[in-house]
Amino acid sequence: MTDLAFDLPSPSPHAQAFIDRREHHNFINGAWCPSVSGNTFETLDPATGECIGSLQRSNSADIDTAVAAAREAFDDGRWSKMVPMERAKILWRIADLIEENIDELAELETLDQGKALYVGRWAEIPGAVGQFRYFSGLATKIEGSTIPTSISYQPEGKEVFAYTQKEPVGVVGAIVPWNSPLVLTAMKLAPALAAGCTVVLKPAENTSLTAVRLVELMAEAGLPDGVINLVCGYGAEAGQALAEHSGVDKIAFTGSTATGRRILDAAKGNLKKVTLELGGKSPVIVMDDADIDAAIQGAANAIFFNGGQVCIAGSRLYCHRSVFDRVTQGIAEIARSIKLGHGLDQSTQMGPLVSREHSSKVGEFIDSGKRDGASILCGGDIAGPNGTFVTPTVLTDVTPDMSIVREEIFGPVLVASAFDDPDEVINAANDSEYGLASGVWTESLSNGLRFANAIRAGTVWINGHAMYDASLPIGGMKQSGWGRDSGQAALENYLELKTVCAIH
Ligand code: NAD
Repeated sequence: MTDLAFDLPSPSPHAQAFIDRREHHNFINGAWCPSVSGNTFETLDPATGECIGSLQRSNSADIDTAVAAAREAFDDGRWSKMVPMERAKILWRIADLIEENIDELAELETLDQGKALYVGRWAEIPGAVGQFRYFSGLATKIEGSTIPTSISYQPEGKEVFAYTQKEPVGVVGAIVPWNSPLVLTAMKLAPALAAGCTVVLKPAENTSLTAVRLVELMAEAGLPDGVINLVCGYGAEAGQALAEHSGVDKIAFTGSTATGRRILDAAKGNLKKVTLELGGKSPVIVMDDADIDAAIQGAANAIFFNGGQVCIAGSRLYCHRSVFDRVTQGIAEIARSIKLGHGLDQSTQMGPLVSREHSSKVGEFIDSGKRDGASILCGGDIAGPNGTFVTPTVLTDVTPDMSIVREEIFGPVLVASAFDDPDEVINAANDSEYGLASGVWTESLSNGLRFANAIRAGTVWINGHAMYDASLPIGGMKQSGWGRDSGQAALENYLELKTVCAIH
């Protein structure tokens, strides 16, 4: 392990006041309450390993109460029958309140998850604001259609009138991961609430703090009791109970592909609807006609942003052989210059990974790459007082069968290979069980569009990476998931289509 000394900056008074509360309760039917068992668990600052709060260790008894509250709030129509303009106003107010508290939320996210402050402050929390604003607008635009039919057997003198209408799917169980907690939570809650659903939210066990704060702000915004319920706890206990619950109509899940499979199994009892946003191993291709300096910077950002703990991280780099050395050396130079430190330090460019367990897993991947014959161009070290920092790493001399090329590492680790012709690289890019995102760097529009058509991935970026907006659907093909978050496509996940056909 490499030494890494850093200063421990103090949080702002608002963030400190939240941390000083120490124990945080669940939120069910408009009230804060301890878990039924009375059990709690600790959440840690991953940079130091210090405890920064405790959350309720909930189980099926807590899930039962939360689902009952969400069910009642859905069935009595206090939210689903509220006029859309009023629902829209509350969603907009939630966005305003997140924005007003953006500094505090960004600090809490950094303390709990480890990320460099700028990631939350300038990208993810504004992203959460954008979700609530965008879906506030859509709450008033949930429309069906009138449909001309060819039905000819109605009684003499009568006519057929047919139309569709969209209705909220019901009680939604939202289960989210730890890498970008607040924005990923907003990506579930905003469309679910816009559609008129009620929600039970189960945040990730190691990053629940901003969920607590968000739910406080949602109540302050005027969301009626029972519409949002927060139940903290472990995946195998609270998460599993939510996914299995027969009172839940839909599970909206973001997390690993392995857990996605467990969710599917758990959901089959009442055949609840399921959407899954899962893992990725996204290819980034640099053609020989690319703006190479832009591609170097873009490819480095694609893998090192948020310490590579990004589902859409560009973790497989394919460079045309004629530019391979220049591009990989350029990325390695950027990697070596990245300043690691506590996320709260404004000068930190990369914080720790979320936990020691996760940094060990990333370290094991790097070791397996070395054993398999890959060369380390830069990085490859674990550092810091809690062993949670991973130095930005570039591996070359990799082959398609290596686990570092096939599996999602979810850390700042790039595997780079050279290619000679475009057909070869399209096959290599598609040689993955994942199909979440992809990027190509080229100055040729036809090269870019050819790649966009050929790649099996939910998103293709041309001359950029991770360009994200609440209006742009995001989600995966193949084993990267089912359904889409963001954009109008996401709203459909939370709606049922009803056909009405009348003789009059
Ligand atoms: P994870 O699957 O371990 O956990 C995700 C959530 O599921 C957590 O809240 C966890 O408590 C819960 N969970 C765990 N076991 C469960 C069970 N048996 N039943 C119900 N819930 C359970 O994932 P993670 O390690 O927290 O997150 C990293 C993964 O998330 C990566 O694979 C990443 O690619 C993926 N991810 C995908 C997207 C996307 O949009 N496709 C976005 C972000 C992260």
